[in-house]
Amino acid sequence: MLRNQSEEHELFRQSVRNFVEKEITPNVLTWESEGAVPREIFEKAGELGYLGLRIGEDVGGSGLDFRYTGIFVQEMMRCGSIGAPVALLAHAEFATKVVDRAGSADLRERIVRPAAAGKMIGSLGVTEPGAGSDVAALRTKAVRDGDDYVINGSKLFITNGTISDFVTTAVRTGGEGYGGISLIVVPTDTPGFSRGRRLRKIGTHASDTGEIFYDDCRVPAANLVGEENGGFRLIMEGFVGERLVLSFLACAHTRLMWEEARRYGHERHAFGRPLLANQVWTHRLADVRTALEAAEALTERALDLHLRGEPCDGEVSMAKLFTCEIAVDAARTCAQIFGGMSHMEECLMGRLYRDSLALTIGAGSSEMMREIIARNEGLAVQGAGQ
Ligand SMILES: Cc1cc2nc3c(=O)[nH]c(=O)nc-3n(C[C@H](O)[C@H](O)[C@H](O)COP(=O)(O)OP(=O)(O)OC[C@H]3O[C@@H](n4cnc5c(N)ncnc54)[C@H](O)[C@@H]3O)c2cc1C
Repeated sequence: MLRNQSEEHELFRQSVRNFVEKEITPNVLTWESEGAVPREIFEKAGELGYLGLRIGEDVGGSGLDFRYTGIFVQEMMRCGSIGAPVALLAHAEFATKVVDRAGSADLRERIVRPAAAGKMIGSLGVTEPGAGSDVAALRTKAVRDGDDYVINGSKLFITNGTISDFVTTAVRTGGEGYGGISLIVVPTDTPGFSRGRRLRKIGTHASDTGEIFYDDCRVPAANLVGEENGGFRLIMEGFVGERLVLSFLACAHTRLMWEEARRYGHERHAFGRPLLANQVWTHRLADVRTALEAAEALTERALDLHLRGEPCDGEVSMAKLFTCEIAVDAARTCAQIFGGMSHMEECLMGRLYRDSLALTIGAGSSEMMREIIARNEGLAVQGAGQ
């Protein structure tokens, strides 16, 4: 469990816990069936300051450190749905934080201030039909025309994609490869911007996921985030935060599954005794608990480096890889003890099971994490498997 380091952290945890118990958990099944978290929840979370935790105070945020984000993720995950926290975090941490960090004063005022207040919903648009893991291959093009950029292309699998008010969009403004990429904020009421249907997923149902299109979509050049052709570095820096978020999420998710499996193993009887009277189950759940302890320690270590401003790319990748892989393994073990119930949508464990499958893909797949670790550790051989 991520440690509170001060009384402020504990007070913050209690405040999020109350919010989740009152506003999130009672409604999460409705949102799972509707496919999205409603706008009012973004507004309520914004009013309470949860969407601006790491946003600069000069534009309405709280300027806090990442430990608060970790606590927010842990408490949100108690609602039993990965989709709900992902919807809020994709907005606050993925789409908005990078604009706060690198955007102009004007962009921060126009976009970051209302986003932190929950009055605008954001998406981060990087993935395309032809470019996912290989971000440097993206093809959505932005051409400078006077004081505007004209954007053509499309994005796929975008969280909040059918409900957002702006998309922090990765575009090609220069030549091939990572050196020709920029980030531009595209308001979704811009002529030429359109959305496809809400995508039907096998899990994380409470977060909206969409396909979006840019057809001669003209936005002011002032919407560029940072420097032209400097977008790849911003995306990679943003990934550190995204991967920490996923690490916290995977740990909290695993802890919930483990608690559910332990409860059910005590309650459910077969052959005249509780399931946990069989050593096979006590041992398997002991393994899950041990893996969780290691996952939380790795996440804490990556967080600690990040908070101290030290290079932590490798440690964050290790945390993301390990926490998400053990979550999927734990899901299989913890679901198995539920027998047929694990296959039911009405069963919390069933929903946690299918939600877990997105963890090893989103914010960089397990294979990409291994690539980063291999490169950092001097394992990569030039020309092999690249
Ligand atoms: C629920 C959900 C929400 C998402 N939200 C967003 C969002 O908000 N914004 C956004 O931009 N994207 C989003 N994504 C997209 C996500 O980031 C991509 O799916 C992910 O980066 C993988 O890209 P891909 O699906 O194109 O797979 P590909 O890149 O086609 O990879 C397919 C498989 O091959 C593996 N692979 C690829 N290259 C190599 C290699 N060199 N060596 C070994 N294995 C390799 C991958 O690890 C993967 O297992 C979301 C995805 C999901 C499922």
